Amino acid sequence: MVKGDFTMAQYEIYALKYAGPFTSSGAFLMWLKEWERVEKRNYYIWCLKGKGGPVVVDAGVAPELARERNLHGYVNPVEVLSRIDVKADEVQHVVITHIHWDHASGVSLFPNATFYIQDEEYRFWLKDAIATRPPFMHVSDETSKAYLASLEGTDRLVLLNGDQKVLPGIECLLAPGHTVALQAVAVDTAKGAAILGSDCAHIFRNYREDWPSALIVDLVGWMRTYEKLRSRASSIDLIFPGHDPIMSTQYRKVAKDITRLV
Ligand SMILES: [Zn+2]
Repeated sequence: MVKGDFTMAQYEIYALKYAGPFTSSGAFLMWLKEWERVEKRNYYIWCLKGKGGPVVVDAGVAPELARERNLHGYVNPVEVLSRIDVKADEVQHVVITHIHWDHASGVSLFPNATFYIQDEEYRFWLKDAIATRPPFMHVSDETSKAYLASLEGTDRLVLLNGDQKVLPGIECLLAPGHTVALQAVAVDTAKGAAILGSDCAHIFRNYREDWPSALIVDLVGWMRTYEKLRSRASSIDLIFPGHDPIMSTQYRKVAKDITRLV
């Protein structure tokens, strides 16, 4: 599975905000508490730069869907990536953490990439009738599912079974809880093992306080996932959530809407 041969492959990790801020009740971000609180969240993709890179984590949202959903503060992820000299149409590797619309609907923006998705996640969203029920339709979109389906059987779609190294220094980790088979991405960095957890947690507080967001399909699974991610990361400060505005405000800004996390 591991392609290439890079000794000591290490990456820099960038967070790229492509939409937001959005506001919601705190109870959305902290499961069943903080109803009165109003919290902000942003939408992100991430980029790993290193010997095996650039590798993009999640695809964001394509302009058509952004228009349809009237997405506040939207900038095409292609444009955001160009600010750190990454051309979306030249990107070879895109890890899709899960098939929610805000993470997967931009797949068509990467016409030459191979997509890495957990097989169980793919099968749920593309083949399981439960995924066509209203709450699941609400958080996914048909266009990107059709795009992924068109890649099935080609080498542009790699379906993973559990924890798997996909490139030197980059391992996808099965991390269910938020969806049936979300995957986190463990990345070797100069600071040690960092983990892009995507929506395993929406904000840093979910990890610090051992308390998930409300968008959860399996609470027990989430607890086990968090233990696993905690044990794999070199420090809790190196586990990153999916939507926390802190990623934009408390890390070094390298370009408009882009910060370096590690
Ligand atoms: Zn999300």
